[in-house]
Amino acid sequence: MNVDAKRVLEARLARGWSQEELAAAAELNLRTIQRIERTATASLRSKRAVADALDLNIQDLDDKESKMSTCPECSSDQVFQSADVVDSTTIGGELLPKLSTGRFSSAKLRPVICGDCGLLRFYVAQESLQKLSSSKHWNRV
Ligand SMILES: [Zn+2]
Repeated sequence: MNVDAKRVLEARLARGWSQEELAAAAELNLRTIQRIERTATASLRSKRAVADALDLNIQDLDDKESKMSTCPECSSDQVFQSADVVDSTTIGGELLPKLSTGRFSSAKLRPVICGDCGLLRFYVAQESLQKLSSSKHWNRV
């Protein structure tokens, strides 16, 4: 499941802990902590252990940018979110015109895939969403 890796890192550093120290406190392998901070994913058990070690609620470690934590198609929790956003020009031209903050006209998208049924969704980056209401290229329906 998805984990707010930034929150884990901030809470760990706020305590002055190394990854080794967090691993010891959570009774997890160092490699598990490294993977959580690098890939922003963890098993429910590891997520709970890290939350407990950092005196956080497990909900505090939910990735706020993650829109899909369970698959709406098959209800699986094996959902994977890309760590990177992709430019919509790379997946077929001007899919979402004029929503870029940069010099390109198309928006940044974050892909999310269900690891069981293969459902793929793209979520438009927040910076692009904020442009929707004032854009003359997009009309509210
Ligand atoms: Zn699915």
